[in-house]
Amino acid sequence: MKNRILAVFITALILVGLGAGVCAAEYREFLQVGIKYGSNAPGEMTFSSDGGIVVYNAVTGEVLYSAAANESVNIVSDVSAYYSADKFYAQGLEKISVQPQNGQTISCGGTKYRGYILLEKEKNGLMTVLNVVNTEDYIASVLGKEMSYSWPQEALKAQAVCARNFAVCRGNSHKGYNFDVCSTTHCQVYAGIAGEHENTRKATEATKGVLATYGGKVVPLYFYATSGGKTEDVKNVWGSVHGYLKAVDDPYENPEKASRYKWSVTLTKEEIEAKLSKAGAKIGNLQNITLDEITPSGRVAKMTFVGDSNSYSVKLEKCRTILGLYSQKFTIESNESQSAASLYTTIGDMSGPFYITNGAQNFLAETFSVIDGNGNIAQINMKSTPIPADTYIINGGGYGHGVGMSQWGARGMAENGFNYTDILKHYFTGIELE
Ligand SMILES: [Zn+2]
Repeated sequence: MKNRILAVFITALILVGLGAGVCAAEYREFLQVGIKYGSNAPGEMTFSSDGGIVVYNAVTGEVLYSAAANESVNIVSDVSAYYSADKFYAQGLEKISVQPQNGQTISCGGTKYRGYILLEKEKNGLMTVLNVVNTEDYIASVLGKEMSYSWPQEALKAQAVCARNFAVCRGNSHKGYNFDVCSTTHCQVYAGIAGEHENTRKATEATKGVLATYGGKVVPLYFYATSGGKTEDVKNVWGSVHGYLKAVDDPYENPEKASRYKWSVTLTKEEIEAKLSKAGAKIGNLQNITLDEITPSGRVAKMTFVGDSNSYSVKLEKCRTILGLYSQKFTIESNESQSAASLYTTIGDMSGPFYITNGAQNFLAETFSVIDGNGNIAQINMKSTPIPADTYIINGGGYGHGVGMSQWGARGMAENGFNYTDILKHYFTGIELE
């Protein structure tokens, strides 16, 4: 489970660069998924299928080779040709397709896929490996990587719509390549048939072709693991304004179970300085951190690192990412900011911290007794440990960017009888499902 949630988190992080809310695409029956390309482009690849395979010139449809059931075909690519020893030699072709026969799946480099494989020549003669796959088969596979198949069906269905909208909206995310989505966390993790489960197929089929629209257009649906009680308006995270990405209450996350519903991270002054330096900020020695703007949902929208030579302010999502935090919703405590009330129980009008003095020097006392005029003795005890100097304790809630659907919230809603339409319409204000 942890790995699944982590995968979501990574996907969510990368989504930042996309330009939230922009999408003009429409549903298509087939998607082209980039399996290997660029620095991972292979010079050869082995294929086979239980039903046999046929290799075609993908432009003219001419048959280049037919392989029997379970016959392996190792296809080599160089700058001038595609070929397979003793089987075929095809010179001057830009792209060929490798198609399984008799309704079977195809094994490509040991991984099984539905649909077929398209090979396209890269400039250096190596090949881009694409899987041309039915959109719904693709959704059933990626769904199990974004949310555990053991979760309630209605939550899985909501996630299936998110995955479908995502795939349709991804568009030109890989410039110079002829595919819609890649198969890694950069887009959505896709492992062909290995990613499918009976439950993910069921949720996909139950929402077949369903896309969410806002203002009549298909829009990207963002999600993350846990909101910590309230989601965030996109303008406070990515800076853009979208009517369907507003902050909403998230009352169904289970605080006991939801991933990082509450969290605490301790960072030293040196660790924070190293992170700032990595971000290019030169402030000298860190003196203090101020949280300058807090959103109504409790997320930090602006913060400043005060140093002895300079100050450095960050806004929106950078308040989370600069320190590598689980979410943008947090408070910071340090030795300087720690209140006396959090350290000591007090009696009468006295308030801590308490010191024992010899007249020349004060000593911080953790436990001591006081005696009143009637001889009654009261013991004063320290409640918590003082935060050491140059240490910052960051207490937060939620896991991920907080825009759109909380997966743990969706699970909670499903467990409380809501269906996937209720769930999506709760997290995405004013959307329609069609
Ligand atoms: Zn990608």
